Amino acid sequence: MKIGVPKEVKNREYRVGMTPAAVHELCGHDHEVFVETGAGIAIGFSDDDYRQAGARILDTGKEVFDTAELIVKVKEPQAEERAMLRPDHTLFTYLHLAPDKPQTDDLVKSGATCIAYETVTDHAGHLPLLAPMSEVAGRMSIQAGAHCLEKAMGGRGVLLGGVPGVSPARVAVVGGGVVGQNAVAMAVGLGAQVTVLDRNMEVLRHLDHLYGNRITTLFSTAQTLDQAVTESDLVIGSVLIPGASAPKLITRDMIRRMPEGSVIVDVAIDQGGCAETSRATTHDDPTYIVDGVVHYCVANMPGAVARTSTLALNNVTLPFVAALANKGPDRAMKEDPHLRAGLNVAAGKVTYREVAEATGHPY
Ligand code: NAD
Repeated sequence: MKIGVPKEVKNREYRVGMTPAAVHELCGHDHEVFVETGAGIAIGFSDDDYRQAGARILDTGKEVFDTAELIVKVKEPQAEERAMLRPDHTLFTYLHLAPDKPQTDDLVKSGATCIAYETVTDHAGHLPLLAPMSEVAGRMSIQAGAHCLEKAMGGRGVLLGGVPGVSPARVAVVGGGVVGQNAVAMAVGLGAQVTVLDRNMEVLRHLDHLYGNRITTLFSTAQTLDQAVTESDLVIGSVLIPGASAPKLITRDMIRRMPEGSVIVDVAIDQGGCAETSRATTHDDPTYIVDGVVHYCVANMPGAVARTSTLALNNVTLPFVAALANKGPDRAMKEDPHLRAGLNVAAGKVTYREVAEATGHPY
């Protein structure tokens, strides 16, 4: 099969759909891979790296779209990319269609087969192509939070791990899922005093089993949350109620009672945020202060560590790309219901119920 990897065109997107290592695996199975020049250059993958892996380098995104049958990307296609899609294309990328009617309309019009990373499932009912980005954001949340605790950022001037003779910082992780567990791992590693709150007892048992008395696990209620948040130097917001906006668990009143210069990193901001005072920020201007509390609310945290994020994403997408290429999209999806769960648009129709309902398309 002819596989195309265009350079991402979305502003400040440095990730790339396939690494040279992934290209090498597919070329080893007699597929042809066409990569747009400079597609990976921002994260250290040169055109020569791709050539050595077996790819052909093309000068423009248009040539990639014109040549390829299967297109592998990272971000949802932008308007100029959507205009290049054809009915014989299969597009494999993050789409996030429900809140994006213009994109949905264009994909329907294109007639292409569009498979969204974010709705591919696994045997446990999880979303395996979303998990690596949560892992990245969870680990990064502690790094970002530690930085925000510095005086120059408006923070308390507290070192996360303390030093001999001085207490470490107190960190509350609200939501112990994929983001939360990765935040806990980093915070414990840096020597912070960590409390994690969740409403799922299995999550709390798992964390207790892993860390024993090195962390405190608390069942999340308004009362436990109030105490943990108002006593912490750093709060990580990592709750998720699937398919819903994040609940505003951290109230303005709690924020007011947090120590001056404490920090909240609201990772759940991509679902609206779990603090009443959260609003989305960007990597260019990541923080703002409310009631003396530094807020870090970047909605696309993994974009800042684009090389790690690309490698992590490729680890989980490669088996699906290989299946699509080896079997052809129809057979690959027929034989794998988890890949089939990723199908959002095909042959001019929305094929995913929630997207159809949200965008007014028939299902
Ligand atoms: P997850 O489903 O693995 O974990 C969410 C956890 O929240 C679950 O364990 C759940 O039991 C818990 N929870 C639900 N209600 C709660 C409550 N009232 N109190 C305490 N805990 C509660 O989800 P995840 O993959 O960890 O993602 C968390 C959030 O981070 C999502 O909104 C996700 O979209 C977001 N995210 C943001 C970025 C970013 O760049 N900002 C990147 C990746 C993920």
